[in-house]
Amino acid sequence: MTAFGTVFMPEMIASEYNGTQWSQPAVVPSDSLTLHPGAHVFHYASTCFEGLKAFRHEDGSINIFRLDQNIRRMAQSTRLLALPEVDQALLEQMILEITERFAGDVPEPPGSMYIRPTHIGTEAAIGKAAAPSTTSLLYVLLSPVGDYFSGGSGTLRLLLQEEGMRCAPHMGEVKSGGNYASALPSILQARAEVKADQVLFCPHGEVQETGAANFLLFDGDEVITKSLDSTLLHGVTRNSVLQLARDMGMSVQERDLTVAELLERAAKPGCEAALSGTAAVLAPVGTLIHQGRDYKVGTGAAGELTQKLRRMMNDIQWGKAEDPHGWLTRV
Ligand code: PMP
Repeated sequence: MTAFGTVFMPEMIASEYNGTQWSQPAVVPSDSLTLHPGAHVFHYASTCFEGLKAFRHEDGSINIFRLDQNIRRMAQSTRLLALPEVDQALLEQMILEITERFAGDVPEPPGSMYIRPTHIGTEAAIGKAAAPSTTSLLYVLLSPVGDYFSGGSGTLRLLLQEEGMRCAPHMGEVKSGGNYASALPSILQARAEVKADQVLFCPHGEVQETGAANFLLFDGDEVITKSLDSTLLHGVTRNSVLQLARDMGMSVQERDLTVAELLERAAKPGCEAALSGTAAVLAPVGTLIHQGRDYKVGTGAAGELTQKLRRMMNDIQWGKAEDPHGWLTRV
């Protein structure tokens, strides 16, 4: 089986901003790109991206999950990086056009078509360390993906890390490449030293998020997750799962959660924890590692609520249940 995100459709769609206007989007080969080595993105990390998915329904239709939210987040990341403003209607048109072009390649459930819009500063100007790129390139790649859980639905081991941060605090809500590179040394160290799958960043003892997913705690009828601020990515899956939990009558608490409270609650047999993100939807967390000790979350096995919420999300995405909040856009 190929790794998630390593197979691409042969074409992508791209539009260039020349300092004044966006070009008519063009479908071009997706295996090459010519950029000046002095391009702003290579030196000053003027880059942001999105990740969303298109799903094949039984009636053959192709449906994109929460297209509007991802476009809005891309526009916000763009603004916070001082890249040229994204034309949101243009981006929507690009995503729909390229997804429709490859509609026949969207995998059947449990697979999907992962959509990766990307925006980079292209101006060749290495003197612009403290100035924005006046030109940019916006493109949308497609990558057919399979079942994220095909390797088994084992639970995750998370290292709670109180020193260091995933990224600069005010950059957490920006989906920018630099954030991901800056988190890597912590993640590699956690893998090597305590066989953790991921690091749960907890600066100053406050639970934040992992390198590529939000963290949710389920305790009885309570869902607890960090409230939205500039330090963490405002996950679309997080937002969707919280909505479904509210619909089920659960008490959703978006607030600060300390490591001490997390460990205390996790010790209860009925407690569950999960990571939320577009790739995995909801992935159960079985173990928290803190100061050299392993702590089971609940029984340590995948929790029932986590599995139920994941199924509810999948059923909406795959058209097997109603879409009560209008989250799908038909291509
Ligand atoms: N946090 C980070 C740092 C991420 O990279 C992601 C993946 N986009 C998430 C959270 C989850 O966001 P979403 O549910 O929108 O995929």
